[in-house]
Amino acid sequence: MVEVRAERASGHPEGITVRAPAKINLHLGVGAPREDGFHPLMTVYHAVDLYDAVTVTPAEDWSVGVVADGPIDVTGVPLGDTNIAVRAGRALAAHHGLDRAARIEIRKGIPVAGGMAGGSADAAAALVALDRLWGLASDDATLFGLAADLGSDVPFALVGRNALGTGRGEEVEQLPGVESPRWWVVVPAAGDGLSTPAVYRRFDELIPDAPPQPRAPHRLVEFLEDPDPDVAPLLHNDLQPAALDLRPDLAALLEAGEAAGALRGLVSGSGPTCVFLCADESGALEVSRSLRASYDVVLVASGPVTGALGR
Ligand code: ATP
Repeated sequence: MVEVRAERASGHPEGITVRAPAKINLHLGVGAPREDGFHPLMTVYHAVDLYDAVTVTPAEDWSVGVVADGPIDVTGVPLGDTNIAVRAGRALAAHHGLDRAARIEIRKGIPVAGGMAGGSADAAAALVALDRLWGLASDDATLFGLAADLGSDVPFALVGRNALGTGRGEEVEQLPGVESPRWWVVVPAAGDGLSTPAVYRRFDELIPDAPPQPRAPHRLVEFLEDPDPDVAPLLHNDLQPAALDLRPDLAALLEAGEAAGALRGLVSGSGPTCVFLCADESGALEVSRSLRASYDVVLVASGPVTGALGR
């Protein structure tokens, strides 16, 4: 049984804290569903500096607490066995044949159910933190194997920066990308979450003849080392028409961000989060100021940043 507590996270001298970043998809190519029902993906992940921090401390039983870091609504985060950080901890212990538990405190800076893989970030951070707390020194094959079983976006949350994701997104290959010049993005919280399965169902309805091989990112990868305004037309999301079909209001948001000066607005992943790529920090602040007139929560972030492994 998981003991469910939701009190504020506090300082733990004996605890270990690991943070993991949010992701956006600069490219998301989606193919026809495979026999196992999953859609094959070819995606370019990009990690931005919105973080969840996960602190683990030794405990007799599993328990989890969640607190917002900034204007994040954390009410949708489960506090029991279904929290993906607890699932990650249990999977790590089981893999090593250990009967151990921990207290997990999550400080959330990544919007919940927004298509930025906040839960995946927590799972990756929990794996790394518990591996250190328990002195396991798991090899990469173990960590990446457990991560892929937990969710398609979890392996990327381990590595961060820029990566090509294939399979269902869980096979990651690090791509070039430098710390400077950085990419700047504006992320307005776009209200109620869109269910990822519903967006894929609508994708299947809208594009019944999708090719088995997802669209590749072609020239985008070349631009990762040297962000340039010309990159804007190369950003692509095959799920965007389906997301806009289910949430027509997002089209107005995309227009508003581009009218305010963003190089490009794009639905991130299955949405409903939209991200706006901006030329530089001042451009991003200008777009965020403009969108704040209509949206309560508008985050400004930049990348690339490292993942939970910190390397
Ligand atoms: P993705 O982009 O990977 O599809 P997302 O960013 O849209 O995911 P998350 O914030 O990861 O969405 O949360 C999706 C759902 O997962 C939440 O609505 C919540 O019910 C559940 N969940 C389980 N554990 C967590 C967690 N630690 N943090 C956030 N959500 C969690």
